[in-house]
Amino acid sequence: KRVGYALVGLGHLTLEEILPAFGECKKSKPVALVSGSPEKLKKVAQQYGIKPESCYSYDNYDKLKDNPEVQVIYIVLPNSMHAEYTVRGAQAGKHILCEKPMASSSAECQLMIDACKKANKKLMVAYRIQYEPYNRLVRDMIRDSKFGKTKYIQTQNSQSSANPNHWRHKKDLAGGGSLPDIGLYCLNTSRFLLGTEPTEVFAYSYSTPGNPLFKEVEEHMSWQMRFPDGIIVDSITHYNTHDSRFYRVNSERGWLHLDNAYAYTGQRLQTSHAEGPAKMQNQITIESKNQFATEMDHFSECVMNDKPPHTPGEEGLQDHRIMEAIYQSAREGKPVKLTPVQGTDVFR
Ligand code: NAD
Repeated sequence: KRVGYALVGLGHLTLEEILPAFGECKKSKPVALVSGSPEKLKKVAQQYGIKPESCYSYDNYDKLKDNPEVQVIYIVLPNSMHAEYTVRGAQAGKHILCEKPMASSSAECQLMIDACKKANKKLMVAYRIQYEPYNRLVRDMIRDSKFGKTKYIQTQNSQSSANPNHWRHKKDLAGGGSLPDIGLYCLNTSRFLLGTEPTEVFAYSYSTPGNPLFKEVEEHMSWQMRFPDGIIVDSITHYNTHDSRFYRVNSERGWLHLDNAYAYTGQRLQTSHAEGPAKMQNQITIESKNQFATEMDHFSECVMNDKPPHTPGEEGLQDHRIMEAIYQSAREGKPVKLTPVQGTDVFR
């Protein structure tokens, strides 16, 4: 038995990653599509065996409530549309899986959480890294103090973009630039790895003057987060450099370095440690899994067994609160203190 999903937005991520990933799912299947393009709907529905009557436009999206095959709505739209389609989806009586970033602001995240609670429906943010085996292994090694106490993490998620007309470069649709789009991985993954919340941030932002790509949204954000016990996380995100997606966790007696940490595939984990032959360096290889399939099957299991998801709406809300502090710090040129939110338990 599989949980039925409606995919909202037939853009790059849905077509290239999510729909193909259903082929590797054991508990999830696509049963409905929502798009503004009738041609795309017809073509994709035929390809994935979805009934014509289970294809919707944005205008008749609310009719999903009458489709008993749909249990989950997966929202894969531009960021500023996540809140509206989550609220309407919950009101249609469906559980919601929402792409990252959860919304454009922490206020919107709260609205989404409240709407799902009111409708008694589950809300999960699609933080695929938390379902990826290498990242989970690093989290376990930190938790088990494999190399002693962790002292600091360096992390980067950068790429280049070329089209200033894409919604990612429009503030009202994207909510921000490199930070909420790709820098968010550095932020969310650090919280996941450490299992604690930052208490203070200090940030610097830059956008090249006159570059149309960065007229509305930031090109570069660097920020430092202070975690309990003096742990520091140094993060950089950039929209105008060659792809680079890694972190290095520095502990008392060793380090863990994950290349392609935030990529869809190709994670490469190296470690160095002081035990045994001095300065041993290893590459650790484990079985990789499709992150989208693992993530969707996790949510399906939560729906089937009425369990809370591992990355609920509160997890997205916390990231938005921290991102707002990062922007504030960059604007004001001084550190901003954070109040940890109770109830986020990433080690669940
Ligand atoms: P995309 O531009 O390829 O697709 C967006 C879709 O939304 C398109 O089909 C477009 O037609 C539709 N749309 C509806 N109303 C629109 C409007 N007013 N303006 C622009 N497009 C509109 O984007 P994408 O890369 O598929 O990203 C979609 C969401 O998925 C974003 O929230 C993004 O952050 C997220 N995403 C997540 C990952 C991940 O690894 N988890 C990767 C890529 C994107």
